[in-house]
Amino acid sequence: MSNNMMDDVEKILFSEEELTARIREMGAAITADYAGKEILMIGILRGAVFFMADLARAVKQTVAIDFMAVSSYGAATSSSGVVRILKDLDEDVANKHVLIVEDIIDSGLTLNYLMENLWSRKPASIKICTLLNKPERRKVEVPIAYNGFTIPDYFVIGYGLDYAEKYRNLPFIGVLKPEAYAG
Ligand code: 5GP
Ligand code: MG
Ligand code: MG
Repeated sequence: MSNNMMDDVEKILFSEEELTARIREMGAAITADYAGKEILMIGILRGAVFFMADLARAVKQTVAIDFMAVSSYGAATSSSGVVRILKDLDEDVANKHVLIVEDIIDSGLTLNYLMENLWSRKPASIKICTLLNKPERRKVEVPIAYNGFTIPDYFVIGYGLDYAEKYRNLPFIGVLKPEAYAG
């Protein structure tokens, strides 16, 4: 791989400026919807980290934050939608207004599982906020309260999203050149 990440980028889908503008709108909507309610943002590691950091600063009230890390089971059982919790929350979510913050929703299996898991802990409410939504590949419907952008069935990288743990620190959302996948 080239040492210059930009050489691997086929095209930019959403520039840094477009992301900033959209996240400002999302923050304003969340601020209005949660007036008088305390928000606990739960970021899904690791892809949602950059988005959540900017989103939280676009919300004009106090936001508590926590994180979960999950991984899908192997291919054989992935259709079951069972995911493994690699890192659980540090906070108790009982009676809290939970806002799950995700980088992208693809099949929907991860969030479908997480919603069920979190509801069992008796929060006051749960809503989903995702930066990107890829509805063409959905296997199970999940209720999305806040959606940054709907995209076609591209594999995207940047702004937290990786390919083999690379490209997360690109400041935009982009698509890789085919040769970037080769080796
Ligand atoms: P789902 O359970 O909705 O199929 O999976 C969602 C997770 O798969 C995302 O949180 C993300 O980690 C990963 N994912 C899905 N689509 C993409 C993509 O286009 N690019 C990257 N980098 N990760 C993706
Ligand atoms: Mg994710
Ligand atoms: Mg990944």
